[in-house]
Amino acid sequence: MIRVVVPGAGGRMGRMVIDAIAATPGVVLAAAVERADSPDVGQTVDGVTIGASFDDALAGGDVYIDFTAPEACAGHVAAAAQRKVAGVVGTTGLPAEARAAIMHAGATVPIVVAPNFSLGVNLLCGLVEQAARALGEEFDLEVVEIHHKAKRDAPSGTAIAIAEAMARGRGLDFPSARRFARDGDVGPRRSGEIGVVAVRGGDVVGEHTAHFLGPNERVEVTHRAASRAVFARGAVKAAAWVVKQPPGVYSMRDVLGL
Ligand code: NAD
Repeated sequence: MIRVVVPGAGGRMGRMVIDAIAATPGVVLAAAVERADSPDVGQTVDGVTIGASFDDALAGGDVYIDFTAPEACAGHVAAAAQRKVAGVVGTTGLPAEARAAIMHAGATVPIVVAPNFSLGVNLLCGLVEQAARALGEEFDLEVVEIHHKAKRDAPSGTAIAIAEAMARGRGLDFPSARRFARDGDVGPRRSGEIGVVAVRGGDVVGEHTAHFLGPNERVEVTHRAASRAVFARGAVKAAAWVVKQPPGVYSMRDVLGL
C-alpha cells in the first residue's frame, strides 16, 4: 500500500484528492493536514483526523499531494525532502523561492510538478506544440483561459504551460514572446508575440483555448474540465508512479508517458 499525506485536506482539491485515494486500489490516506487556524483541523475524513502539523504527518507517508497555497509550497517541499517522502505538487502560481526549493529537493527525492493533472490538457500541450510548428509564422498565437472567481493566480499555470508549448513549437524565446495583458494604446500586435488572457467568474472548473489566428482561417483547440475529480485522479496516479522513480523533478507528461 502506498501511504499518501494530503495537506490542504479541507480545500476544494484536497477533498477531491481524498475521494480519489479512497477510489484507487493500492493507495491509502495516511494523514490529512490543514492550516492551524482552519476549522477543518480535528475533523475526520476517511477515518483520519485532520491535523495541523505537516511534519508530523510526513512520518507515516511515502508521498504527499500538495494542492494548497503558493506560500506553503516551499516549506512543504523542504520538509518532505528531509524525511525522504516523495512529492506531487499541483499548487500553481508558485513564487521563485518555491520553484528553487523543488529543484533543490529533486536531488534527494522524486517529485512530480504539474500545473494540470488531466490527461486531456497534457495531450493538448503536445498538439499545440505540433500545431504551432506546422502552421508557421503567419498564424498569431493566443491563449484564453476561464476559471471560477475564487482562483487566486492569473493567468493559470496551465495557460502558461500551453503558451510555453506554443513557443517551443514556433522556436520562440518564451520570456520575450509572452504578453500577459493588453491595456491602453498597445499598438498593432507584434509578430512573435504569444498573448495570454484570463477570464474569471462563476464556478468554471477550468477551460483553456489555444488560438491560431491566420490569414482567412483560424484554428482553436479547447479543453474543458467538467469536474476537479479529473485533476485529483491524475494526481493520485502521479503519486503511485513517483514513489517508484529515482530522485528528480518530473512532469505529468513523464507520468503519462506522452
Ligand atoms: P482551496 O483554497 O479550496 O484549498 C486550499 C487549501 O489549502 C485550503 O483549505 C487551505 O486552508 C489549505 N492550506 C493553505 N496553506 C496551507 C498549509 N500551509 N498547510 C496546510 N493546508 C494549507 O484551493 P483549491 O481550489 O483546492 O486550489 C489549491 C491550489 O491547487 C491552487 O494553487 C490551484 O490553482 C491549484 N490547482 C491545481 C490543479 C492542477 O491540476 N495542478 C487543479 C486545480 C487547482
